Amino acid sequence: MSTPLQELKAAALKCTRCGQCLTICPVFGKTGEESNSSRGKLFILRALAEGSVQPTEHLMELAARCTLCMRCKSICPSGVDTTGIILELRRHLAEQGRLPLAKRLAFKAVSRGRLFDMVMSKASPFQSLLFRRTSQGTGVVARLPIPAAGLNLRRLVPELAAKPLRKLVPAVSKPAGATRARVALFPGCMLSYVYVDAGKALVDVLVANGVEVHLPDALQCCGTPLYSSGDVAGAASLAEANVRALASSGYDAVVTGCATCGSALLKEYEHVLQEGRSLTAWQDMKGKVMDVSDFLLRLGPKPYSHTVPLTATYHDACHLVRGMGVSKQPRSLIRSIPGLRFTEMNRADVCCGCAGTFSATHYGLSQQILADKVDDIMATGADVVVTGCSACKMQILDGIAHKNARTRVLHTAELLARAYGL
Ligand code: SF4
Ligand code: SF4
Repeated sequence: MSTPLQELKAAALKCTRCGQCLTICPVFGKTGEESNSSRGKLFILRALAEGSVQPTEHLMELAARCTLCMRCKSICPSGVDTTGIILELRRHLAEQGRLPLAKRLAFKAVSRGRLFDMVMSKASPFQSLLFRRTSQGTGVVARLPIPAAGLNLRRLVPELAAKPLRKLVPAVSKPAGATRARVALFPGCMLSYVYVDAGKALVDVLVANGVEVHLPDALQCCGTPLYSSGDVAGAASLAEANVRALASSGYDAVVTGCATCGSALLKEYEHVLQEGRSLTAWQDMKGKVMDVSDFLLRLGPKPYSHTVPLTATYHDACHLVRGMGVSKQPRSLIRSIPGLRFTEMNRADVCCGCAGTFSATHYGLSQQILADKVDDIMATGADVVVTGCSACKMQILDGIAHKNARTRVLHTAELLARAYGL
């Protein structure tokens, strides 16, 4: 059940209009429009609750102009749950039928778990019908602009892998020596169907650390694209399926390899799941949800076997640093790799502008935000930029390709796999 508008209005009234959130908002920073800031969105929410504006498509468009980076929430001196209120605003508008048709269709497809899996697993050979490789070999771009699908002739799109992750690793991967822990891996859509090498690296690194890794067959999308767009009912059906697959088998931990999925499993399901068995099962399980870097540090990582003579920098995904409270852990793992030089970038925890579907629906704005991130990365002179979020990886790869830079973008697990000689 969505939070009643009057209740949201009361929460929004805690805002003292101090304007601090405007100073750090990446969207407001590029547009200078008050409605793009959280303060502006709280004002819209109040107007909606008072009936002075109607729940139109335009209002949904204003509500969508936010990357949900949570920076405003983290600095608000009045403790306003800005992002929570923005999400509820989107939910209200979606319930009033204001979700764009393209998103409704896409979300219906994602919600059909088995069908979605079949399409994502088998579509690789047909990509060339829609996409062509760039002449620089940096990836693929659309042959034709399809604005409703967020495709234009400039955006670098990651290719679907020829085989999904579950065809590359067994359902249960066992370590050679003693088993130190038994975990379920939640890879998420990107590591399952797109960046499968990173997904495999994640499994290999865990196994090299004495971990038995289970890849439950029934896992589905974490639901964040739906939840963050306001389709909470659709997200709930995915969340229920995931909790069913993860909660009952007595795993020591549920390890996530994607910041967005991890944040969903750790926090968002509280707002997505309805009262009932799934919510109870999730409450029992959530203490076991950990990003892979957090899990490895708690376990005690085995010593690295190889030097990695690279200069690396690290980008904090919003869902990791503010969603899961993970920022020191990956840095600690990376800094201790022999031969590697770590250099911190400026504003490492500022959003890269991806925000999932935002980068498709608001490509120009997303690119403006990304340009600052790419400048900060390039200023370090690093050979690789490491991140724990596949969506950030996709976004940064796009920005780096447009600068014709050679900086590589790796998932944390891919760098660790090198240090273990995997
Ligand atoms: S920082 Fe908080 S109190 Fe200040 S304007 Fe933004 S939402 Fe309102
Ligand atoms: S969550 Fe981020 S993008 Fe959205 S209003 Fe807050 S600071 Fe701006």
